[in-house]
Parts: sequence; structure tokens; C-alpha cells
Amino acid sequence: MNNLDCNLYNHFSAQIGLYCDKILLTTEKEKSYSYRDIEQETARLANYLVGLGARKGDRISAQIEKSPQALCLYLACLRSGLVYHPLNPAYSAHELEYFIENAEPVIIICDPKQFHILQPLAESSHVSRMETLDGDGQGTLIDNSRDNSTEFEIVPRAENDMAALLYSSGTTGVPKGIMITHGNLLSNAKSLAEIWGVTNEDHLLHCLPTFHVHGLFIALNCMLLSGASMRWLAAFKTDLILKFLPQSTVMMGVPTYYTRLLDDPLFTTDMAQNIRLFISGSAPLKVETFAKFKQRTGHCILERYGMTETNINTSNPLEGERKPGTVGLPLPNVEVRIVDDEDKPLATGEIGNLQVRGPNVFIGYWRMADKTEESFTENHYFDTGDKGQIDAQGYVSIVGRSKDLIISGGLNIYPKEIEVLIDDISGVKESAVIGVPHSDFGEAVVAIIVEKQKNTFKEEQIITSLKDKLANFKVPKRIIFLDELPRNAMGKVQKNILRDNYGDLLS
Ligand code: AMP
Repeated sequence: MNNLDCNLYNHFSAQIGLYCDKILLTTEKEKSYSYRDIEQETARLANYLVGLGARKGDRISAQIEKSPQALCLYLACLRSGLVYHPLNPAYSAHELEYFIENAEPVIIICDPKQFHILQPLAESSHVSRMETLDGDGQGTLIDNSRDNSTEFEIVPRAENDMAALLYSSGTTGVPKGIMITHGNLLSNAKSLAEIWGVTNEDHLLHCLPTFHVHGLFIALNCMLLSGASMRWLAAFKTDLILKFLPQSTVMMGVPTYYTRLLDDPLFTTDMAQNIRLFISGSAPLKVETFAKFKQRTGHCILERYGMTETNINTSNPLEGERKPGTVGLPLPNVEVRIVDDEDKPLATGEIGNLQVRGPNVFIGYWRMADKTEESFTENHYFDTGDKGQIDAQGYVSIVGRSKDLIISGGLNIYPKEIEVLIDDISGVKESAVIGVPHSDFGEAVVAIIVEKQKNTFKEEQIITSLKDKLANFKVPKRIIFLDELPRNAMGKVQKNILRDNYGDLLS
């Protein structure tokens, strides 16, 4: 491969040539788009953006709802060498101010409802142009680009050229811009297509948001690289999933999607007959959910592990054992290791810092050279900030984030160990364990529990039952009962919110 052939769009383009008349995606309203339709819309948009003065490497910020046109905008950026910068539609004016100032886009594309918020930010950040695009794929972007040519020559890009800028969630300080390259995306898409056995006969039920790496890259790129097709849902809605599941061959989701499906009595074995692969990621899939899903459908959900900085690192296998509670084996060409705080590799089964090296790993944090340097070891491993272990067969397990580690009286406590025991208590729906400041121990363990039925337990009952199973220093000092755990859009429990809310519980 020529070094400049690394533009990811080049590789999609080969499929577009082969499958031009094939339907690439169909919306929930039964509107279909062929590979050719998408190719042409993408060319119109690329021509328009370049015509506005955007040049390779420039950022295009987009705070838009999911639509086929939003997909075309992402592809148009790839094709023209622009850097796609998606923003969660839920971000507030305050959050947007930081992202726009930091990313310095040349063009902002937003939902018409957000125009009044983004316009003053665009002015103060000297953004040269604003366009709108709504969830129905309408807006000035489409109107103004309509007369542009449906031909556009792909702008050559090298492996290390930036394709996208996505920000970390900022739960530990200011959000960091994550520079993702064409090479990162291409290598990961190829690996996923290979290990998940994606072919042109696949039909993906695409129900994830497209402002996050999961829906935008992981679910999408391996399908586009394989000539597959998709049902394109604007959002996850159980009734729509039940409607379209029987026609699909692959579904990807966060664990909450699977628990919501299981909670619906209408979700039957029959509906999952045509599916060959259910994939879960972005947050831990509970062993209980894995087991219940298998019982209901006969399918073992395939759990994989990734992050914005790296795309996918590990996956349970297509063939072979899918071990519940693990995130599987490293992808081809991806090295995963567990080390201590001095970066010394640890023995099999030991818990430590999970580090990754490979073509999937991002090139650094946008304009944060010091943060980039801190995150990489001398021999180019990226420190993920996750704590994990690797078993004798090479399966990786995530036991939590480093920042979630609780240090009580000088002893390390991994929340997952306690959460697994609490979740096992019949009557508990789910739990989250956090450390809160304690005058004597430094930190002490607090468990937040969601009951299947309210008021099933008293605090003391839970504490007593855990005392049989855990060393005393790990036993929660307090139990809080909540109706639900705070989660972000990707289903991750927001422990930072819990820590803020219960920070002074024991002081
Ligand atoms: P994000 O960058 O938003 O995709 O978040 C990445 C983080 O999500 C990882 O560093 C992990 O902490 C977590 N994560 C992703 N997939 C899994 C998984 N299968 N099990 C446990 N944690 C996961």
C-alpha cells in the first residue's frame, strides 16, 4: 500500500465500486440509500466544504443528530482530508464553549435548535462558517450543497494524518482532544471485519449514537469495509429493535441495551434467530446478563473492550469460548500487557495497569504534549487508565479504572470484586462501589445499590452478608439505596457523580 493511500475513504470506495446499486442503509421510516447515493451525497458535501475554504487537517465540528446525512458528513470529511469533530447533541452552552475554543474548527454544523447557542461561540472563536443539519437530514448544509458535483477526488492521506478529533468525557479534569488517524481507523476496521467475520451478507442493526467511537467507528467502519448493509435507527428504542432484529445478522450495543431487551417480555428466541452475532462494549457486561441472554436466546453475547484513544483492543472470539466477565483476547497486531506502577510487567492473573501498543493507538492529545507524554511509556505503550488482569489462556478482564481504585488504610481495593458479590445477592439489580474520604483510613468503601424491588433490604443485611465473603477492610462502611445509577449516553456508570454526591458521608 502506498503510504498516501491510507485515506480510509479509499478503502470504502473500493466497496462502493463493487456494490454501487446495493442498498447500504435503510432508516426506521423505510427510506433507503444505495452505496451510490451515499457516495454522491458525500461528494457533494466534500465539494461544498472545500469550496468554503476548508483544507486538509482543518476541523469540522458537528453537533448534529444521527441521520444518513450525518453519516455522509463524516465520510465527506474523510474523503476530503478534513478532521471530523463530532459533539454530543446533549452538550450545554458551557461545555460547547470549551470544545469550540479548543478544537478551533473552520466550520460548525449544528442542529437548527442549537444555532443560537453556537453562533456567538463561532463568532468569538473566528469560525468562518456555520451550517445547519437536523435529525431529518434537512438544513442549510444540504440546501447549499445541492448543486455541487457528485464527483470528488479522494484527498491522499498518510497513516499518521488525523481523521477525527473526539474528546474524552472529562470525568478526571478538562476533556482531552483525542487525535485519531486514518491509519488507526483502517487497521482497526480491517481487524474487526476479520475477527468478527463480517461479509457483504451482513445486515447490521445500527442503533448506537454516532458522536461516540462505538457507533461512529467500531460499528460502522468494519461494515463499510465489507460491503455490508445496515438498518439505521436514530436511537435505541426497544420496540424498534424488536421490529428490525429478525431481519438483521449483527447487533452492537452497550450493556444497557441488552438488559432493556431482557426486561421486555416480547423479546423471544424467535426474534434472535437470524442474528449471528450480538456484540457488547463501552461498559462492563454483567455475568448475569450474559447468562440470562444465553438462556433466553441461545446466544453468547460477544464482549469486547475499547476506548476512544484506541478503538478496540480485545475481543472475545467468534469461534471458541466467549468467557463471561472477560473482554477476550488482543486483536491481531495489538499488544496488551499488565504492569505495576513502575511499568514492570506482572505475572499471569495479577491485577495491574493495563497498557496497549499497536496500530490502533491514537497519536496523542490535541495540543496537550505533556498529557500525551504522561500517557505513553518509553517503549510506546499507552497507559489506558484501566486496571486489568490476563488469565492463563490470554483472556483479559477489566477490574475498573485506575481512578476508581480505593486505597483504604494503605490497602488497595478493586470495586469490581465487591460489586460482583453484591450483584450476586438475590434481589439486587445492580451496584456501584466507590471510595469516599475517611478521617482514619484515608478512604473507605461505600456501596450504592439498586434493588429489584424497593425496600427489600436494610443496610445492615447487606453488610452482614458481605462480611462472610470479604476481608473486613473491603466491607462497605455504608450502603446507599438508589432507584437507578447515574449513567452517561454510552451506559457507563458515572462514579464521579456518586463520589461528588456522597463525598462527605463518612467525614
Ligand atoms: P470511551 O473512551 O468513552 O469509549 O471509554 C473507554 C472506557 O470504557 C475504557 O477505558 C473502559 O474503562 C470502559 N470499557 C469499554 N469497554 C468495556 C468493557 N467491555 N468492559 C469494561 N469496561 C469497558
